[in-house]
Amino acid sequence: MGKIISIANQKGGVGKTTTSVNLGACLAFIGKKVLIVDIDPQGNATSGAGIDKGEVNECIYDVLVDDLAIEKVIKDTAVENLYVVPATIQLAGAEIELVPTISREVRLKRAMDQIKDDFDYILIDCPPSLGLLTINALTASDSVLIPVQCEYYALEGLSQLLNTVRLVQKHLNHHLMIEGVLLTMLDARTNLGLQVIQEVKKYFQNKVYQTIIPRNIRLSEAPSHGEPIIIYDPKSRGAEVYLDLAKEVAEVG
Ligand code: ADP
Ligand code: MG
Repeated sequence: MGKIISIANQKGGVGKTTTSVNLGACLAFIGKKVLIVDIDPQGNATSGAGIDKGEVNECIYDVLVDDLAIEKVIKDTAVENLYVVPATIQLAGAEIELVPTISREVRLKRAMDQIKDDFDYILIDCPPSLGLLTINALTASDSVLIPVQCEYYALEGLSQLLNTVRLVQKHLNHHLMIEGVLLTMLDARTNLGLQVIQEVKKYFQNKVYQTIIPRNIRLSEAPSHGEPIIIYDPKSRGAEVYLDLAKEVAEVG
Protein backbone atom coordinates (compact mmCIF):
# COMPACT_ATOMS: atom_id res chain seq x y z
CA MET A 1 0.00 0.00 0.00
CA GLY A 2 1.26 3.46 -0.87
CA LYS A 3 2.44 5.88 1.77
CA ILE A 4 1.37 9.51 1.47
CA ILE A 5 3.76 12.09 2.93
CA SER A 6 3.10 15.84 3.08
CA ILE A 7 6.21 18.01 2.89
CA ALA A 8 5.07 20.98 4.93
CA ASN A 9 6.23 24.10 6.74
CA GLN A 10 4.40 27.40 6.42
CA LYS A 11 7.71 29.20 6.19
CA GLY A 12 8.83 29.80 2.62
CA GLY A 13 12.30 28.98 1.39
CA VAL A 14 13.07 26.18 3.84
CA GLY A 15 13.55 23.48 1.20
CA LYS A 16 10.07 21.94 0.84
CA THR A 17 10.09 21.89 -2.94
CA THR A 18 13.75 20.92 -3.22
CA THR A 19 13.01 18.00 -0.89
CA SER A 20 9.81 16.96 -2.69
CA VAL A 21 11.53 16.82 -6.06
CA ASN A 22 14.82 15.28 -4.97
CA LEU A 23 13.55 12.88 -2.33
CA GLY A 24 10.93 11.82 -4.89
CA ALA A 25 13.51 11.30 -7.64
CA CYS A 26 15.88 9.44 -5.29
CA LEU A 27 13.11 7.14 -4.05
CA ALA A 28 12.36 6.43 -7.71
CA PHE A 29 16.07 5.81 -8.30
CA ILE A 30 16.15 3.11 -5.61
CA GLY A 31 13.25 1.39 -7.33
CA LYS A 32 10.15 2.83 -5.71
CA LYS A 33 7.21 4.04 -7.74
CA VAL A 34 6.72 7.66 -6.74
CA LEU A 35 4.16 10.38 -7.35
CA ILE A 36 4.82 14.03 -6.48
CA VAL A 37 1.60 16.00 -6.01
CA ASP A 38 2.20 19.73 -6.36
CA ILE A 39 -0.31 21.79 -4.40
CA ASP A 40 1.64 25.05 -4.36
CA PRO A 41 0.23 27.55 -6.89
CA GLN A 42 3.85 28.55 -7.63
CA GLY A 43 4.20 25.16 -9.32
CA ASN A 44 7.91 24.92 -8.52
CA ALA A 45 7.83 21.18 -7.94
CA THR A 46 6.10 20.80 -11.31
CA SER A 47 8.78 22.68 -13.22
CA GLY A 48 11.58 21.30 -11.02
CA ALA A 49 10.55 17.79 -12.03
CA GLY A 50 10.86 18.81 -15.67
CA ILE A 51 7.26 19.57 -16.61
CA ASP A 52 6.65 22.64 -18.71
CA LYS A 53 3.81 24.49 -16.97
CA GLY A 54 2.93 26.16 -20.26
CA GLU A 55 1.96 22.75 -21.64
CA VAL A 56 -0.22 21.78 -18.69
CA ASN A 57 -3.92 21.97 -19.49
CA GLU A 58 -5.42 20.37 -16.44
CA CYS A 59 -3.83 20.37 -13.03
CA ILE A 60 -4.55 19.71 -9.37
CA TYR A 61 -6.90 22.71 -9.41
CA ASP A 62 -9.34 20.80 -11.63
CA VAL A 63 -9.18 17.83 -9.26
CA LEU A 64 -9.85 19.89 -6.14
CA VAL A 65 -12.39 22.33 -7.49
CA ASP A 66 -14.06 20.50 -10.40
CA ASP A 67 -13.80 16.87 -9.25
CA LEU A 68 -11.69 15.77 -12.22
CA ALA A 69 -10.29 12.25 -11.61
CA ILE A 70 -6.71 12.63 -10.41
CA GLU A 71 -5.39 9.89 -12.71
CA LYS A 72 -6.31 12.14 -15.65
CA VAL A 73 -3.70 14.69 -14.60
CA ILE A 74 -0.79 12.40 -13.73
CA LYS A 75 2.23 13.09 -15.93
CA ASP A 76 5.34 11.00 -16.30
CA THR A 77 8.82 12.51 -16.11
CA ALA A 78 12.26 11.87 -17.54
CA VAL A 79 13.03 9.85 -14.39
CA GLU A 80 11.84 6.25 -14.54
CA ASN A 81 9.20 5.52 -11.86
CA LEU A 82 8.67 9.22 -11.09
CA TYR A 83 5.31 10.82 -11.83
CA VAL A 84 3.86 14.25 -11.12
CA VAL A 85 0.44 15.78 -10.58
CA PRO A 86 1.17 19.35 -11.68
CA ALA A 87 0.05 22.69 -10.28
CA THR A 88 -0.23 25.94 -12.17
CA ILE A 89 -0.97 29.47 -11.00
CA GLN A 90 -4.66 28.69 -11.56
CA LEU A 91 -4.49 26.93 -8.20
CA ALA A 92 -4.08 30.31 -6.48
CA GLY A 93 -7.86 30.73 -6.74
CA ALA A 94 -8.65 27.38 -5.13
CA GLU A 95 -8.03 28.48 -1.57
CA ILE A 96 -10.94 30.93 -1.86
CA GLU A 97 -13.11 28.96 -4.28
CA LEU A 98 -13.13 25.95 -1.97
CA VAL A 99 -14.31 27.87 1.08
CA PRO A 100 -18.06 27.55 0.43
CA THR A 101 -17.92 23.98 -0.90
CA ILE A 102 -18.99 20.76 0.79
CA SER A 103 -16.20 18.63 2.30
CA ARG A 104 -13.66 21.24 1.36
CA GLU A 105 -10.97 19.75 3.65
CA VAL A 106 -11.22 16.19 2.31
CA ARG A 107 -11.19 16.79 -1.44
CA LEU A 108 -7.58 15.82 -1.93
CA LYS A 109 -7.99 12.76 0.29
CA ARG A 110 -10.95 11.53 -1.76
CA ALA A 111 -9.02 12.02 -4.97
CA MET A 112 -5.97 10.22 -3.56
CA ASP A 113 -7.97 7.24 -2.36
CA GLN A 114 -8.41 6.33 -6.03
CA ILE A 115 -4.67 6.11 -6.79
CA LYS A 116 -2.97 5.49 -3.46
CA ASP A 117 -2.31 1.83 -4.18
CA ASP A 118 -0.72 2.53 -7.56
CA PHE A 119 2.39 4.02 -5.94
CA ASP A 120 4.89 3.18 -3.20
CA TYR A 121 5.23 6.81 -2.14
CA ILE A 122 3.15 9.91 -2.79
CA LEU A 123 4.85 13.17 -1.75
CA ILE A 124 2.74 16.31 -1.49
CA ASP A 125 4.64 19.58 -1.93
CA CYS A 126 2.74 22.09 0.23
CA PRO A 127 2.51 25.86 -0.21
CA PRO A 128 4.05 28.19 2.40
CA SER A 129 0.86 28.64 4.41
CA LEU A 130 -1.43 26.74 6.76
CA GLY A 131 -4.52 27.41 4.65
CA LEU A 132 -7.02 25.08 3.05
CA LEU A 133 -4.54 23.58 0.59
CA THR A 134 -2.17 22.50 3.37
CA ILE A 135 -5.13 21.23 5.41
CA ASN A 136 -6.19 19.14 2.39
CA ALA A 137 -2.65 17.75 2.16
CA LEU A 138 -2.46 16.85 5.86
CA THR A 139 -5.92 15.30 5.74
CA ALA A 140 -4.89 13.14 2.79
CA SER A 141 -1.56 12.05 4.31
CA ASP A 142 -0.23 9.23 6.44
CA SER A 143 2.51 11.48 7.73
CA VAL A 144 4.20 14.85 7.49
CA LEU A 145 7.86 15.54 6.77
CA ILE A 146 8.96 18.94 8.07
CA PRO A 147 11.99 20.60 6.50
CA VAL A 148 13.68 23.06 8.88
CA GLN A 149 16.31 25.44 7.63
CA CYS A 150 19.51 25.60 9.70
CA GLU A 151 19.11 29.32 10.42
CA TYR A 152 18.39 31.69 13.25
CA TYR A 153 14.77 31.30 14.36
CA ALA A 154 14.68 27.77 12.90
CA LEU A 155 12.05 26.69 15.41
CA GLU A 156 9.98 29.83 15.07
CA GLY A 157 6.54 29.11 13.65
CA LEU A 158 6.88 25.37 14.14
CA SER A 159 4.47 25.44 17.08
CA GLN A 160 1.79 26.77 14.72
CA LEU A 161 2.51 23.97 12.28
CA LEU A 162 2.40 21.37 15.05
CA ASN A 163 -0.84 22.88 16.30
CA THR A 164 -2.36 22.55 12.84
CA VAL A 165 -1.15 18.95 12.72
CA ARG A 166 -2.89 18.29 16.05
CA LEU A 167 -6.12 19.90 14.86
CA VAL A 168 -6.09 17.78 11.72
CA GLN A 169 -5.40 14.67 13.83
CA LYS A 170 -8.32 15.49 16.06
CA HIS A 171 -10.93 16.47 13.51
CA LEU A 172 -10.01 15.19 10.07
CA ASN A 173 -7.34 12.49 10.07
CA HIS A 174 -6.61 10.46 13.22
CA HIS A 175 -3.84 8.53 11.48
CA LEU A 176 -1.61 11.49 10.66
CA MET A 177 1.92 11.06 12.07
CA ILE A 178 5.10 13.08 12.08
CA GLU A 179 7.28 11.27 9.53
CA GLY A 180 10.40 13.20 10.42
CA VAL A 181 12.13 16.55 10.68
CA LEU A 182 14.73 17.31 8.02
CA LEU A 183 17.48 19.84 8.64
CA THR A 184 18.23 21.69 5.42
CA MET A 185 20.72 24.17 3.98
CA LEU A 186 23.37 23.59 6.61
CA ASP A 187 26.43 25.77 6.23
CA ALA A 188 29.02 23.59 7.93
CA ARG A 189 31.51 26.47 8.10
CA THR A 190 29.54 28.26 10.81
CA ASN A 191 28.85 27.39 14.43
CA LEU A 192 25.32 28.64 14.02
CA GLY A 193 24.33 25.59 11.99
CA LEU A 194 25.61 23.25 14.68
CA GLN A 195 23.72 25.15 17.37
CA VAL A 196 20.53 24.91 15.35
CA ILE A 197 21.02 21.15 14.91
CA GLN A 198 21.31 20.75 18.70
CA GLU A 199 18.28 22.93 19.32
CA VAL A 200 16.09 21.08 16.81
CA LYS A 201 17.26 17.67 18.10
CA LYS A 202 16.47 18.70 21.65
CA TYR A 203 12.95 19.63 20.58
CA PHE A 204 12.14 16.80 18.16
CA GLN A 205 14.50 14.12 19.53
CA ASN A 206 14.48 10.90 17.51
CA LYS A 207 12.17 12.42 14.89
CA VAL A 208 15.13 14.24 13.31
CA TYR A 209 16.63 12.49 10.28
CA GLN A 210 20.25 11.47 10.53
CA THR A 211 20.72 12.81 7.05
CA ILE A 212 21.27 16.56 7.09
CA ILE A 213 21.06 18.49 3.82
CA PRO A 214 24.00 20.89 3.39
CA ARG A 215 23.95 23.99 1.27
CA ASN A 216 24.93 22.80 -2.17
CA ILE A 217 25.05 25.08 -5.18
CA ARG A 218 24.14 22.23 -7.57
CA LEU A 219 20.85 21.74 -5.70
CA SER A 220 19.93 25.36 -6.36
CA GLU A 221 20.93 25.15 -10.03
CA ALA A 222 19.05 21.97 -10.87
CA PRO A 223 15.48 23.43 -10.93
CA SER A 224 16.32 25.88 -13.73
CA HIS A 225 17.27 22.86 -15.84
CA GLY A 226 14.07 21.04 -14.93
CA GLU A 227 16.08 18.15 -13.56
CA PRO A 228 16.23 16.48 -10.15
CA ILE A 229 19.76 16.50 -8.74
CA ILE A 230 20.21 12.79 -9.42
CA ILE A 231 19.98 13.57 -13.15
CA TYR A 232 21.49 17.06 -13.19
CA ASP A 233 24.63 16.13 -11.25
CA PRO A 234 24.55 12.61 -9.84
CA LYS A 235 28.07 12.96 -8.40
CA SER A 236 27.30 16.10 -6.42
CA ARG A 237 27.06 16.22 -2.65
CA GLY A 238 23.39 17.22 -3.09
CA ALA A 239 22.64 14.00 -4.97
CA GLU A 240 24.49 11.94 -2.35
CA VAL A 241 22.57 13.36 0.59
CA TYR A 242 19.14 13.12 -1.01
CA LEU A 243 19.93 9.51 -1.88
CA ASP A 244 20.88 8.95 1.77
CA LEU A 245 17.59 10.54 2.80
CA ALA A 246 15.63 8.34 0.40
CA LYS A 247 17.23 5.24 1.96
CA GLU A 248 16.46 6.55 5.44
CA VAL A 249 12.82 7.23 4.53
CA ALA A 250 12.47 3.85 2.82
CA GLU A 251 14.40 2.20 5.67
CA VAL A 252 16.88 0.43 3.44
CA GLY A 253 20.60 0.31 4.29
P1 ADP B 1 10.34 26.08 -0.22
O1 ADP B 1 9.68 25.13 -1.17
O2 ADP B 1 10.27 25.66 1.21
O3 ADP B 1 9.88 27.49 -0.41
P2 ADP B 1 12.70 25.67 -1.86
O4 ADP B 1 12.92 24.21 -1.89
O5 ADP B 1 12.04 26.28 -3.05
O6 ADP B 1 11.92 26.08 -0.54
O7 ADP B 1 14.11 26.35 -1.58
C1 ADP B 1 14.25 27.77 -1.53
C2 ADP B 1 15.48 28.17 -2.36
O8 ADP B 1 16.65 27.62 -1.79
C3 ADP B 1 15.42 27.68 -3.78
O9 ADP B 1 16.00 28.65 -4.62
C4 ADP B 1 16.28 26.42 -3.77
O10 ADP B 1 16.88 26.17 -5.01
C5 ADP B 1 17.30 26.77 -2.72
N1 ADP B 1 17.75 25.58 -1.98
C6 ADP B 1 16.98 24.66 -1.36
N2 ADP B 1 17.74 23.73 -0.74
C7 ADP B 1 19.03 24.06 -0.98
C8 ADP B 1 20.30 23.51 -0.59
N3 ADP B 1 20.39 22.42 0.16
N4 ADP B 1 21.42 24.14 -1.02
C9 ADP B 1 21.34 25.26 -1.77
N5 ADP B 1 20.20 25.83 -2.17
C10 ADP B 1 19.04 25.26 -1.77
MG1 MG C 1 8.07 25.42 -2.45
